[in-house]
Amino acid sequence: MQPRFGGILPDHMALPYDEMVLRPDALHVYIDRTALEWYWQCPRKFYWGRRHASFKAVTVDGKPILGLEPQANEHRVFGKLMHKLVEVATSKLPTLPNPTELGTAVLPLVMQDMAAASVAPHVLKEYTGLGMGLAHQLVTHILPVLLQDHEIIAVEEELLIPLPYTWGHGLNKLGQLVHLQDPAKVQLVIRVKPDLVLRHKADGQVVYFEWKTTSFTGTDQLAAFEINPQIQLGLLAARLKYGHAEWAQVGLFYKGQKRNNQRTSPFCYGYVCADGRLSTRYVKGWHKQPLVDILMEQEQDMNWWVKQMDDEQEQGQFWVTPPLMPNAVQHEAFVDQLRGLVPRILSIEQDDYPQSFVQCNGPFGKTCDYYGACYMGQQDTTYVARIPHHDPMPIILYNKKGHALSAAV
Ligand code: SF4
Repeated sequence: MQPRFGGILPDHMALPYDEMVLRPDALHVYIDRTALEWYWQCPRKFYWGRRHASFKAVTVDGKPILGLEPQANEHRVFGKLMHKLVEVATSKLPTLPNPTELGTAVLPLVMQDMAAASVAPHVLKEYTGLGMGLAHQLVTHILPVLLQDHEIIAVEEELLIPLPYTWGHGLNKLGQLVHLQDPAKVQLVIRVKPDLVLRHKADGQVVYFEWKTTSFTGTDQLAAFEINPQIQLGLLAARLKYGHAEWAQVGLFYKGQKRNNQRTSPFCYGYVCADGRLSTRYVKGWHKQPLVDILMEQEQDMNWWVKQMDDEQEQGQFWVTPPLMPNAVQHEAFVDQLRGLVPRILSIEQDDYPQSFVQCNGPFGKTCDYYGACYMGQQDTTYVARIPHHDPMPIILYNKKGHALSAAV
């Protein structure tokens, strides 16, 4: 059997965790976890989002432009809304915010984005109800249950996975890409940002936790999380930071399914009888009305609405996966294969990033955000410049003529 890591690590050995530290003498090439997943989905998507050559031309607010960002759409804005709600709700723990105040603080910010995304008025009402309803559940039920057994040790903390070995590519003094004799000179470092890291109160076990929104119910999809790269990279990063990370879990906010262009969540719509009775579920012959309108007409709050749900319906608005265990084989595969990535992600030449044609517009999946850039030549008008979240890093990009260009990743 071939020894792992080019002969450095025998096949039966675990990862060399002790060597997964930032080496002071190395050039660090940082890549964030999202960008890495884009590369795995489709290298061209990574190019549009992180490497498009427009960054050469200008800076915005003093920061370099790196790549193109698709214009806002309702799904992206709602994802941002839920992210913000969780961030605000967990930032002052163990003190929990008032659910109404939480919604009031966060919703207007996102409504501006929704308006910018030109969503239809009924969609705006759907997401307002969803945001308020899920904020209510988060504060009144979900976080209190989580905090019974766990303490929170980190919220949105950036964790690093420095790879132990990286192929030795770099630039010589003439700005040409060369193979370095000493592979220790270049170190690929993956950045991950877990939503929460928890410690189990009873036994001190470390749990990595993520929040997501979903349109699916039931447990069928939960197994798909077991080898999800986000989960496994998060577990690996938490292990490096805290010495151990026993399992991961994902909390899933249900946002309903779209039927006849309307969402099915009870936080989006209620049903009103001609005699004034109300229902959180569909009743034949009753009038369907946006929940935000019902609350306004009844002069009631979300607590009143949730109390009208039965247990099954209320619990169906939030799911938690079973514990997802670290997968050592996958962790080794990450490290083994990613060390060859450095020279491939530093190019700014479009044809170095092949298209993955099966990901573009699948009959069962959603259309890729960069469909327009690939197929409609709209990249100059329908995309906006991406502003990197991180401070510029000392990374050298090169083009095929050997001209080196400094920029952030
Ligand atoms: S449209 Fe297709 S080829 Fe283009 S970036 Fe998206 S997945 Fe890749």
